[in-house]
Amino acid sequence: AAEEGFDIEDVEGAIEAAGHGPLPVLAVVGRPNVGKSTLVNRMIGRREAVVEDRPGVTRDRVTYEAEWAGRRFKVVDTGGWEQDVLGIDASVAAQAEYAIEAADAVVFVVDAKVGATDTDEAVVRLLRKAGKPVVLCANKVDGPSGEADAAYLWNLGLGEPHPVSALHGRGTGDMLDAVLEVLPDAPEQSFGTAIGGPRRIALIGRPNVGKSSLLNKVAGEERVVVNELAGTTRDPVDEIIELGGKTWKFVDTAGIRKRVHLQQGADYYASLRTAAAVEKAEVAVILLDASENISVQDQRIVTMAVEAGRAIVLAFNKWDTLDEERRYYLEREIETELGQVAWAPRVNVSARTGRHMEKLVPAIETALAGWETRVPTGRLNAFLGELVSAHPHPIRGGKQPRILFGTQAGTKPPRFVLFASGFIEAGYRRFIERRLREEFGFEGTPIHISVRVRE
Ligand code: GDP
Ligand code: GDP
Repeated sequence: AAEEGFDIEDVEGAIEAAGHGPLPVLAVVGRPNVGKSTLVNRMIGRREAVVEDRPGVTRDRVTYEAEWAGRRFKVVDTGGWEQDVLGIDASVAAQAEYAIEAADAVVFVVDAKVGATDTDEAVVRLLRKAGKPVVLCANKVDGPSGEADAAYLWNLGLGEPHPVSALHGRGTGDMLDAVLEVLPDAPEQSFGTAIGGPRRIALIGRPNVGKSSLLNKVAGEERVVVNELAGTTRDPVDEIIELGGKTWKFVDTAGIRKRVHLQQGADYYASLRTAAAVEKAEVAVILLDASENISVQDQRIVTMAVEAGRAIVLAFNKWDTLDEERRYYLEREIETELGQVAWAPRVNVSARTGRHMEKLVPAIETALAGWETRVPTGRLNAFLGELVSAHPHPIRGGKQPRILFGTQAGTKPPRFVLFASGFIEAGYRRFIERRLREEFGFEGTPIHISVRVRE
């Protein structure tokens, strides 16, 4: 490394930064209008991202990456949600429950100007039950005169209320320091490392694609393991199912089975539920309805799973309903609409007839294998060396940037750091990714490539 112009500390630092495992998840919960979205915007440092001017606008995006004091984590924002037919208490409780389930720690936001309401008390009960670390945010304390309002919130019994003005930034730093103190370094659900623990599958897809039918099919035909397995905790919302001779944990199935009919905010619930399931899973089985056009909503779900860095299987359901013509157009659509996951294994199934159910497990195993692949540094560099001499980067401004060496910093999903002598263009990065996939497989997994340029 030294002779290539990088000092060893740079190299080690870059590898460590790129190789981070799954990030811990922080949920921000509270009643509507207490300032959750404003606070999340502060955390992610981008103003445009979250707050919507129009009330009732549903957003698909619910998780964001944030960084404070050099630590990275994910934030789940529940601010896009609207009161619905369930009534305010039940709705707040339901959304908080989803978010808390997926989180490693929680920021509970209360409007200090209003004080604690009955709904706030209901959320407190949920928080107690969940037993996750909580930081109490007394928001809308825009100046010193509001501090007394914040002090009242000691009554909630959640410890110290942190007076904050999400709008102006007052107190947010101190509050985030408190968050980092309670936030674990890695998600509690460590990725498949529990010896003998079942692999975790999120079965996701937009409403009516057949998730609950598929789950019933696989759970119904195979023996459902009811008793406690050694070394596993069985969340009531998870379903432990034996399939293809192995035991699997379908996470967060409560939202699939229990059909809560919501009007306003239903899409938002669905997104939150999907994000929560994806966070907890190692592999996402994304179900699509093959009889219908691939929609923007399907693509958003795909993006969510890709961005979360999960292994991915695409399952096209309702295959029993397809005629020749639809099959033809579906293939074209998959090419144009699902190009971002062209590497994902695909199965064409019917939850109704049971068609190709036996292909699901091999596809899942392929995706998990790709997700866990580690390329030894020697092999990687032999490959890079050949690649770079056969297909050098285009010359720019009289110079030719070169990939000097690389290493795989992590797995689940595979993360690479490449060290280069100059700026590497996006097109060339994509070329490298394509060739890496051709050479080493990585079927069913996103891969991350970061490039460090010698100063
Ligand atoms: P959410 O529904 O909990 O996500 O709440 P929002 O973030 O959308 O905020 C609701 C309203 O409260 C908006 O008009 C914000 O500008 C306002 N707000 C949020 N934080 C503060 C704050 O710290 N001080 C004041 N005065 N207003 C705030
Ligand atoms: P979910 O909202 O994704 O859980 O979807 P459901 O499992 O509730 O299915 C939605 C509708 O599609 C129901 O009417 C199912 O009977 C139907 N359905 C599910 N799978 C299949 C399938 O493989 N073939 C056909 N023809 N219909 C299906």
